[in-house]
Amino acid sequence: MKKITIAIDGYSSTGKSTLAKQLAKELGYVYIDTGAMYRAVTFFAMQKGLITADYFDEQGLVNALDQIHLEFQYNGLRGFAEIHLNQKNVEEAIRTLEVSRLVSQIAQLSEVRKKLVEQQQGFGRSKGVVMDGRDIGTVVFPDAELKIFMTASPEIRAKRRFDELVAKGQAVTYDEVFQNVVERDRIDTTRKDSPLVKAADAIEFDNSSVDRETQFLQITALAYEVLNRQ
Ligand code: C5P
Repeated sequence: MKKITIAIDGYSSTGKSTLAKQLAKELGYVYIDTGAMYRAVTFFAMQKGLITADYFDEQGLVNALDQIHLEFQYNGLRGFAEIHLNQKNVEEAIRTLEVSRLVSQIAQLSEVRKKLVEQQQGFGRSKGVVMDGRDIGTVVFPDAELKIFMTASPEIRAKRRFDELVAKGQAVTYDEVFQNVVERDRIDTTRKDSPLVKAADAIEFDNSSVDRETQFLQITALAYEVLNRQ
């Protein structure tokens, strides 16, 4: 069967990656978490002291971009590809609230976006990918055969993210997670380069009151419909 490209965009913590992973598994496709790439660049900048809560050496990061090598390596136990920054697995290290607080500033930089988008387009060259992010259906793969745009209320998204972080043993409050979700939405939707916006041909899903299983079944059915038309 001919392979397609599936683009999943949407606001923070709408469950994009859970859905994308399930869909990739169902179809035998590769799953690429582009948010992890922006997070890994952020983690690099933090380690190099190029960004803190009140300081950002943008030019310093631009100059250091050549030193950043990102790779995804499949972890059979977890069933998805984990991100590696300069040969080191950073899949867990990039999931902290500290990284979440800085990542949207890093993602505003056109030089960073250019580097990551090129790599993302390379990953999808032979199709058979499910990619999630903010600009996949608009910029990375404007010709994707299936585009999904996910939304949910900020309160519900913050609650889901809060529960996830607490389950991982991180000391966070619901209020800080809520602030972060709202602030990232604001920066991501208003930045100049590739703002988060629904592609004209994307199908919108508000999953505020839909459980994961139902949503997965609906979207899988859609994917098979598109595949059957190829
Ligand atoms: O998907 P995740 O929440 O991990 O993404 C972290 C951040 O990375 C987003 O808030 C956004 O600032 C940035 N991002 C982006 N473009 C993408 C994916 C993520 O700007 N394609």
